[in-house]
Amino acid sequence: MRHDVMIIGAGPTGLVLALWLNAMGVSVRIVSKAAGPGTASRALAVHARTLELYEQMRLTDAVLAEGHRVRGVNVWVGGERRVRVPLDGLGEGQTRYPFLYIYPQDRHEELLVSRLEAAGVPIEWNTTFNGYEERPEGVTVRLRLPDGNEEVAEARYLAGCDGASSAVRKALGVGFPGGTYQQTFYVADIEADGPPMNGELNLALDTSDFLAVFPLDEGRRARLVGTVEEDEEHVGQMRFEDLNDAAVQHLRIDVKSVAWFSTYRVHHRVTERFRKGSAFLLGDAAHIHSPAGGQGMNTGIGDAINLAWKLRSVLQGEMSAQAADRLVSSYEEERMAFARRLVRTTDQMFSLATANGAVPAFMRTRIVPLVLPVLVRLPLLRQFIFRTVSQIGIHYRGDTLSEGRAGRVHGGDRLPWVDTGEGRSNHDGLNEMRWQVQVFGEAASVLANWCKANGLPLRTFAWTPGAERAGFLRDAIYLVRPDGYLGCVASGDATSVLQDYFGTKGFKLPLV
Ligand SMILES: Cc1cc2nc3c(=O)[nH]c(=O)nc-3n(C[C@H](O)[C@H](O)[C@H](O)COP(=O)(O)OP(=O)(O)OC[C@H]3O[C@@H](n4cnc5c(N)ncnc54)[C@H](O)[C@@H]3O)c2cc1C
Repeated sequence: MRHDVMIIGAGPTGLVLALWLNAMGVSVRIVSKAAGPGTASRALAVHARTLELYEQMRLTDAVLAEGHRVRGVNVWVGGERRVRVPLDGLGEGQTRYPFLYIYPQDRHEELLVSRLEAAGVPIEWNTTFNGYEERPEGVTVRLRLPDGNEEVAEARYLAGCDGASSAVRKALGVGFPGGTYQQTFYVADIEADGPPMNGELNLALDTSDFLAVFPLDEGRRARLVGTVEEDEEHVGQMRFEDLNDAAVQHLRIDVKSVAWFSTYRVHHRVTERFRKGSAFLLGDAAHIHSPAGGQGMNTGIGDAINLAWKLRSVLQGEMSAQAADRLVSSYEEERMAFARRLVRTTDQMFSLATANGAVPAFMRTRIVPLVLPVLVRLPLLRQFIFRTVSQIGIHYRGDTLSEGRAGRVHGGDRLPWVDTGEGRSNHDGLNEMRWQVQVFGEAASVLANWCKANGLPLRTFAWTPGAERAGFLRDAIYLVRPDGYLGCVASGDATSVLQDYFGTKGFKLPLV
């Protein structure tokens, strides 16, 4: 049977892509060489933008029912707690989820797998991608099945969600330029007593060792991420007990048990292409970076949702072949630019936190504790940090699909969030995963008629101080894409702007 999309890899990226495509009526096949979902906790942070996007699939409540909200960050220097940054209300007014949230990746993957299976999409475990050929009408993919036989399967598109060592990326023949950090890192999920076991994020900035303690719950369970001394031999076979970890001792962490321990090298790389013909790269297959800021998994999920609606539009015949090519190419344009910015910024943060030498050590132990308490009191800076880390600040301004500006909002921005009262918001209708128009104030009847005739829901909200604070302009039109980003934004003669927008992008009206 020929599927629309063949997904290689059932980590968070592949699972989310399969869920979204299936919900939009696209036929998918998803295979993974693993025997089942990942069992290591790996990515912990699920950021506000992911929680917003998860509303589309009604996943957010399930994630929030199980994880842990982090109330503060403590910075320790030389075994003393020097700064506490409260996180409560950090992103208040910007999103329904104005906090830092922890939900381990193994539980997260189990949730995605169970939802996918409930939707009737089986995951084919123990099935390995072995190569593919591009054909005029799509791809043929070679798979090694659990019984050792090879199958040649057909699909319209191929999605490589197969992680950092991606076989799909290698088959595409595209490079993965970047580098590898000098240090070796370790992760340990522990149960322990001691001052940092307080449900908050604790960072130890010492002259040489780096240690971050991520809470896994309110009390005794936490994830340690630290550096392994360079002269320690046999890093691969190391156990937790072999660590010579001054930072753990400085923080007076009394470890009772270790549930998971692993050492790893950290890379910073972005693939040269996110798309080649009918094949796409997503998630760790396309970009890897330091764990600073917990961005990796969230970025893969964002890639999947960015690509899903574009493939749906093309597969369901919403446009001409030439326009279809431009639309799927916008996946590379939008996500590659973001991945490059992300790798650059996480690299800078990570290098400062871990660099050896007198100057970086002086910065960490003297300068950071002095300036941080002052900086975090600046409301604009707090907002900026939240927008960046939570990924609600991701935008595609200036890209092919983004046009116009009204108020402080540009085409390409994430639809700003506005609390519209009684527990509702202007994001509520995004779960329909379709184009829509939003107006704050009054919508002209000609606009209402145009939207009705062309298959776009029109959502009108009262003009409020909240809408103004979010940057909207009264009575302007905001055309929202199926992934919650703005296509075009305009005031004035709205219907001709919309007509032109869909016309130049090659969409057939009325939308299906
Ligand atoms: C120790 C550690 C800590 C981390 N902490 C964080 C964090 O705090 N926050 C964060 O956001 N990220 C973190 N990350 C990164 C995060 O785990 C990854 O970004 C995330 O797993 C990427 O998801 P993915 O689906 O793209 O790839 P993966 O999770 O790597 O999934 C790849 C899938 O492809 C399958 N596969 C591979 N090759 C083939 C093949 N040839 N054929 C078929 N299937 C194949 C694999 O079996 C797997 O199912 C961490 C990673 C590590 C290792």
